[in-house]
Amino acid sequence: MIDYHVHERHSRDAILARIPEYIKVAEGQGITELAFTTHLITIGPDVDISIREEEIPEYISEIRTAQDETRIKLLAGLEVDYFPGEERHLEAILGENNFDFILGSTHYINGVDIGSRSQAESYFANRSITEAADEYFRVWKRAIESGLFDVMAHPDYWRKYLHFFGRSASWGDYGSVVFDAFDAMVGNGIGFEVNTAGERAGSGSYYPLQEFLVAAHEAGVKAVTVGSDSHTVGTLGYHLEDAARQLRRAGFTQMSTFRDRKNTQVSIGEMLKRTHK
Ligand SMILES: [Zn+2]
Ligand SMILES: [Zn+2]
Repeated sequence: MIDYHVHERHSRDAILARIPEYIKVAEGQGITELAFTTHLITIGPDVDISIREEEIPEYISEIRTAQDETRIKLLAGLEVDYFPGEERHLEAILGENNFDFILGSTHYINGVDIGSRSQAESYFANRSITEAADEYFRVWKRAIESGLFDVMAHPDYWRKYLHFFGRSASWGDYGSVVFDAFDAMVGNGIGFEVNTAGERAGSGSYYPLQEFLVAAHEAGVKAVTVGSDSHTVGTLGYHLEDAARQLRRAGFTQMSTFRDRKNTQVSIGEMLKRTHK
């Protein structure tokens, strides 16, 4: 199996997580590829949890050095927060450094931190669930159209705290903009991940919902990855085989792997078979 969403100490919300420990645990689990995707947040209230721009070369070289000691394929990546207007700044940072894989994220919708319980509460108080979804996917689509990213992280993150307010979202509530986002993905050759942290956060399912997978596959989206969104070694590899099976049930036969930001498709069936050896 592969884990394509892992935070280490340069993410300030994962300061105890060390690359060598992740590798040790990954070797024990039979993980074959590990993508380190530390936070890059260039503006807004969460810049403090981001890697600092000047630390990026050292971060990448730490991963390259660790590669000499393991057979697991290590990827130097980022989880980049997308903000409309930041495109050129992000393009410069991504262009200056030798990354393998870039996740794009939207944790904020028009200035609201939907990953914050208190902000999410007021966000949902003023909107129907469908309005909230449409608003989120409008920003998400802009992130896709920026062409800056390889894969979009946790596709329906907008519902992270919904269950705290006694509400839930089913696929029928997702509105219409999500379908435009699928078209944008196909047009830009960009994909999305199945992120198992959604289930750990108590939302009852991974990000995204299974019906999202089916619809994305029908729309022709090709690049898909799986990731645990680990901030400590304890969750590395969390439920990723199950996530791969969900992709397969939705019709995907292949998953994407990356190197130098180039996509190679691999068989999900083969990956699952090897994992069970
Ligand atoms: Zn995230
Ligand atoms: Zn993350």
